[in-house]
Amino acid sequence: MSGIKEKSFSDLMNEVVTPGLCTVCGTCVAACPYNALILREESFKRLELYELEVTRDIYKSIEHLCEKCGFCYYNCPEIMFNLEKAEKEEFGTVAKDELGHFLKAYMAQATDKKILKNAQCGGVATALLKYTLENKLVNATVAVTSTEHPAWKPKPMVITDPKNLLKVQKTKYTPAATVIGVSSALYEWVRFRIAVVATPCQVRGMWTTKISPKGYSKIFNSIKLIIGLFCYGTYPYNDLFIKFLAKKHGINPSSVNKIDLDTEKIRVYVDNELELEAHRRQLRKHLRKSCRHCRDFTNRLADVSLGGVGSPEKWTTVLIRTERGRKIFEYAVKERYIKAKPLSDGGLRKIRELARLKLSEGISD
Ligand SMILES: Cc1cc2nc3c(=O)[nH]c(=O)nc-3n(C[C@H](O)[C@H](O)[C@H](O)COP(=O)(O)OP(=O)(O)OC[C@H]3O[C@@H](n4cnc5c(N)ncnc54)[C@H](O)[C@@H]3O)c2cc1C
Repeated sequence: MSGIKEKSFSDLMNEVVTPGLCTVCGTCVAACPYNALILREESFKRLELYELEVTRDIYKSIEHLCEKCGFCYYNCPEIMFNLEKAEKEEFGTVAKDELGHFLKAYMAQATDKKILKNAQCGGVATALLKYTLENKLVNATVAVTSTEHPAWKPKPMVITDPKNLLKVQKTKYTPAATVIGVSSALYEWVRFRIAVVATPCQVRGMWTTKISPKGYSKIFNSIKLIIGLFCYGTYPYNDLFIKFLAKKHGINPSSVNKIDLDTEKIRVYVDNELELEAHRRQLRKHLRKSCRHCRDFTNRLADVSLGGVGSPEKWTTVLIRTERGRKIFEYAVKERYIKAKPLSDGGLRKIRELARLKLSEGISD
């Protein structure tokens, strides 16, 4: 491709991974046409990508596997994402509002009792996935489940049977390679109409495959609905679950059934009872470096954005952004998958405050 410099995984290591800017969204792995990249598990057979210092040494010994095609580099949102370009592409203009473009705001709740009981907030993320699958608007959904051993490690999951949706509920405050889930839905499951739930960094990864001059656009083009989550940062698994919960507070990660983090507090539940309430400041030093400079709280490029802030407990705040998001949400309400009420002015004000804070300072708590 003319005008595009030759790049390799080594450049991605130098510019993104080693300086700690990698969000582990998984877009580079999904875009590698040689299947040479892998997120670090046990095996060192392929090019490694993860947030451990040893990565560079391991990389050196397997550098020869890279074909230097540059797809990993040119699909990395840390390098190629451009908010203005993406907003113009989706909405026609760059939003002046700190919440990004949105059409309507609601507080909403899943009507399915099992989904609601098992939810982080009001279960709207899961109710929307259920609606799109059962009504064949999509033929696969991609979300994040957690492993049992070790407990709470996030893992992207492709779901085609709505019965399995309960397995992905609740928030994991650790990074997840959701874009690898989209690629797995495409190539392992051979599904081309996908609904996906994702944090802002993961959504930026998907959008980069569309707007980059060397974008691997099959990823973006297969996605029919982006359900974006509000996000105020993630923590490395070992820091949150081992150092903070297990060692500092004596809480076994496998006993935890929910964690709730707002800008002030972390609350940890065991057997649905509050086990620990601590100030978020205690987690400050553990916040991932890549999250510190993220300016997007409300997930500006999703079709619908969901969060807890602004709504009462057991309800999800919903910002409808695109026409397709509006249609799907309103049909899901009409078909009684979801019940919804307009969001209060006070609720909207709270989201705006946080969005403004993150936009101006990143996360500095
Ligand atoms: C890392 C993170 C930080 C967040 N921070 C805030 C915040 O500060 N303020 C706020 O108002 N809301 C925040 N949210 C959103 C909020 O916690 C809920 O996810 C949202 O309100 C939807 O709730 P629900 O009951 O509708 O979802 P549920 O029905 O419980 O479904 C949850 C969905 O979230 C997905 N998910 C969980 N963890 C991840 C992850 N790491 N990456 C990608 N997808 C994931 C699951 O796959 C599932 O589809 C955050 C979410 C995440 C993932």
